[in-house]
Amino acid sequence: MQTVFKTIELLYAKKPIEVDRIGNLEIKLGNNQISNQSVVKSSIKIIIEDEILKLNLDAKFEIIATCGRCLEEKTINESSYKYFKVNLSSENDYEIILSQENIDILPFLSEIILDKMDENYICQKNCKGLCATCGINLNSNNCNHLEKNLKESPFSSLSKLDL
Ligand SMILES: [Zn+2]
Ligand SMILES: [Zn+2]
Repeated sequence: MQTVFKTIELLYAKKPIEVDRIGNLEIKLGNNQISNQSVVKSSIKIIIEDEILKLNLDAKFEIIATCGRCLEEKTINESSYKYFKVNLSSENDYEIILSQENIDILPFLSEIILDKMDENYICQKNCKGLCATCGINLNSNNCNHLEKNLKESPFSSLSKLDL
């Protein structure tokens, strides 16, 4: 996705520049990812006024989340919005300075997308996970290892807590 703006255009704009951008973006966090195949749509409203970068950012995207227990993949449609105000006359978290030729809004876009990713994603509260012995998905299958696992597994006490 094209996320770069010319600093000078943002400085001399009379009103915020509004553009929609569509493209690919590969992001990973824990068991979550946006694949480079899927399309991210973003609406951007951006200007620099009195040395302050003002950015309205809206994004729609598809997260593929893998359950931390049963490893099932699920595709989740998400949207995220945030208004950023960054003072460019002092040091800022985004390390943007007024004298640079271009401003890349990718860090802002990544931030609002990562906000929607759950690092400890579980498909359902009481996901039974995989059998430690045969690897079968216990949400949709049964095997005869269950009792044995409950007694021997070091995680048996954890599985009783609803984490
Ligand atoms: Zn699961
Ligand atoms: Zn089993």
